Amino acid sequence: MDKDSLQYDQLTGLLGRDSFHHCTRRQFKKYPDETFALMLVDINRLTMINELFGLNEGDKLLKYLGNTLQRVFLGVQGSNCARLQADLFAVSFVYHKEDVEKYISLIESEIKKYSLSLNIDILLSFGIYIVEDKEMEGPLMRDRASLALKSIKGNYIRHYAFYDADMRERVLKEQRITQTMSRALEKKEFLVYFQPKHSLEDGTIIGAEALVRWISPEKGTISPGEFIPIFEENGFIMKLDMYVWEEACRFLREQMDKGNDIVPISVNISRIDLYNPELCSFIKGLVEKYDIPRSKLELEFTESAFMDNPQLLIQTMSALRDYGFTVEIDDFGSGYSSLNMLKDAPVDVLKIDLHFLSKGDNGERADSIMSAIVRMAKMLGMLSIVEGVETQAQIDFLKTIGCTMAQGYYFAKPMPWDEFVEYIISCNAGIEPRDPRLSDSFKSIDPEIFWNETVGGPTGIGVMCDACMLIEDYGDRREVLKVNETYFETFGFPNMDCSELEEHIHRTGNQDELGKFLRDIFETAADGRSNGTGVFTFFKNGEPRDMYARGRLISVRHGRNIYFVVMQDLTNKLNI
Ligand code: C2E
Ligand code: CA
Ligand code: CA
Repeated sequence: MDKDSLQYDQLTGLLGRDSFHHCTRRQFKKYPDETFALMLVDINRLTMINELFGLNEGDKLLKYLGNTLQRVFLGVQGSNCARLQADLFAVSFVYHKEDVEKYISLIESEIKKYSLSLNIDILLSFGIYIVEDKEMEGPLMRDRASLALKSIKGNYIRHYAFYDADMRERVLKEQRITQTMSRALEKKEFLVYFQPKHSLEDGTIIGAEALVRWISPEKGTISPGEFIPIFEENGFIMKLDMYVWEEACRFLREQMDKGNDIVPISVNISRIDLYNPELCSFIKGLVEKYDIPRSKLELEFTESAFMDNPQLLIQTMSALRDYGFTVEIDDFGSGYSSLNMLKDAPVDVLKIDLHFLSKGDNGERADSIMSAIVRMAKMLGMLSIVEGVETQAQIDFLKTIGCTMAQGYYFAKPMPWDEFVEYIISCNAGIEPRDPRLSDSFKSIDPEIFWNETVGGPTGIGVMCDACMLIEDYGDRREVLKVNETYFETFGFPNMDCSELEEHIHRTGNQDELGKFLRDIFETAADGRSNGTGVFTFFKNGEPRDMYARGRLISVRHGRNIYFVVMQDLTNKLNI
């Protein structure tokens, strides 16, 4: 190809695709000892700019970018600029590590000027391949730069990436996921799991989040972290989310039909769902179809949606909130726009992920940020819930800053439908009064009848899989009236005397924990309406066990309080 037969792109005057490869190869020959880089430059959402401002404006932007590239690379050794297709540009040049970022920031600052004149954010992505083998076919080199580009498309934090060998593996994996997703949905390989949310005031279950799992017969369980980003990229998330929301409603309906207690279930709404014009009518349709109270379906919108399209997010949240749904902001604190957003967004609950704030060396600072967020939420009339809670120390800290709700492995991991039904029953059996008379104003019930109905007989072979006991409080001493089978298994000794138990805890556990355990249970629960909670550690066969106890006053006999106490062994849950 001589100079005259080179093809140029008519719009920008840059080289066309074939000529670009040809010229790049010529530069390779001219500088045989130099390393070269191939960089692709992509304008994000050019189609949207075309639609909003017309094709002419789109063309003007392409010409502007073409000119910018030419100016930035003028005089750079071995460089060639080209437009390969609509919004995709390419530059090849002699590579010096320290220069690449400089080129990128020059290009970005030029484009920013242009953005300001149009009053819209134009974002560019850059994919770079450092040419290892100059004999490689041109299209192959371009594919590699393109893989690097794809790896950061839609990423607001990273604008450029270099090709690395893992990218190929990742792309193949993505392709496999994309090829199998629709059939997997048809074959019901997607299951909805539930993760409970708890009150930090009394430990009761106050709700749950629906989280999807892909259980593939060939590949086993695939975590959402692997497939959700891909589904967000290819749009399949809209279909999957509609399925998850419907499953959540079906769950609520089933529990209501069975006469079980229900707690609100929250579902995730992807930022991509916001672009579905049927979103609001679909969700409204679901609660009508399954005839469930609107207050029982809560909606979690991820904070990052605010960066994408704040107006659309606020509009959608308002519409759904006006209709009676509780609106939550998920992953609060993960993005950059948090405070800005709160000013305008109609939000009921802030959901803060502990991992965004408490990692790193800057623990104290993270703690005060968390405390400020919780206070601020209160001032704005919002509730706050913290997720990702794993340890007792975190629970204690959250209580000190006035946080009232939490979710995390400390309480339970996300679990399948049936297990979750059991979970609610067991939580309620220990905490909520079985006898409705107790919920309004406290009335004694017969401890004997209560025990038989709740735990299932004096031998304790009942529904409760946690250690249970009935304790009578004599003021100066406490007497254990009944315990179940699990109690014996848990504590490993046939103890029918509370003082022995107390002494045992005292000897093996932490004094403060013991104090807290008893104080909480007997003082908080004394009004007959609240649950007393406490934690303590004891040693079984030399191994420490972390116990969580909840108690409730169920009866007053001869002026003495009788408490029902459930103790759960959380040791394994804490070690996950
Ligand atoms: P998310 O909405 O922030 O959900 C919380 C994630 O944290 C869940 O991961 C949950 O299993 C995990 N988690 C809960 N407690 C703890 C803890 O104590 N420690 C740690 N390390 N992790 C904890 P999962 O289920 O893997 O979901 C990851 C993300 O995928 C979710 O983050 C959400 O953004 C997305 N996702 C999951 N299911 C759906 C869905 O049905 N629709 C949409 N659109 N997104 C979903
Ligand atoms: Ca969530
Ligand atoms: Ca979250």
